[in-house]
Amino acid sequence: MWRATALTLFPEMFPGPLGESLAGKALKEGVWSLQAVDIRRFAKDRHGTVDDAPFGGGAGMVMKPDVLSAAIQAMAEPEVAKLLMSPRGAPFSQARARQLAAGPGVLMVCGRFEGVDERVIEAHGLEEVSIGDFVLSGGEIAAMAVMDCCVRLLPGVMGEPQSAQEESFEDGLLEYSHYTRPAAWTGPDGIERRVPEVLVSGHHGKVAEWRRKQREEITRRRRPDLWERRQQATRNDEK
Ligand code: SAH
Repeated sequence: MWRATALTLFPEMFPGPLGESLAGKALKEGVWSLQAVDIRRFAKDRHGTVDDAPFGGGAGMVMKPDVLSAAIQAMAEPEVAKLLMSPRGAPFSQARARQLAAGPGVLMVCGRFEGVDERVIEAHGLEEVSIGDFVLSGGEIAAMAVMDCCVRLLPGVMGEPQSAQEESFEDGLLEYSHYTRPAAWTGPDGIERRVPEVLVSGHHGKVAEWRRKQREEITRRRRPDLWERRQQATRNDEK
């Protein structure tokens, strides 16, 4: 069973959205397990102090190294990746999710306040992971995003394994556009929109070709960074 452990000051936030739908079903079926551990349990004083003022001054509070370290030590398991949710971290990716999903599980430290004492990161070799260039008020939602991404990759969680292969990022391209019935639909603007003719043609080869072209065009237009990286990879393959 793939194991996710969240170290948090707000354990009641879990499983939250992960208790529903795909991830929730897999959780109930025992495909994965989720443990939310209250960091405050590891506080050393009777007030349950988990944070303190930053050395050097400045706004906000910092999560204390002794308390957080005790929590990590108590919950860490061999071979389980130790992540720290952090806007300074490496951008989380589909590729990293695949690696994590292939392992035994993850332990995720959810920061609060200004963040955590740097020495805990060093001492435990925490891998700092960011879910994007923006600042959340805490690491819990970021941890849930990472968990959700990994869990849907676990064997048996997604209906059709093939649907994962053609998805955004799996091969460096964004996904093509989707259409379903009705074939002609009139929106609130009064304009009738028909689905692209090729999709109702029943010609599988042409559909595949149309989708491939769409993926390339959408990627080039929306994510020149991804497109450039893919072009480079293709050039290297040709060498
Ligand atoms: N002072 C920090 C922000 C702290 S936000 C800075 O300027 O970088 C509080 C906590 O929210 C962080 O410790 C982290 O655990 C979480 N968090 C915020 N934004 C995040 C992001 N983009 N990705 C992952 N975790 C994030």
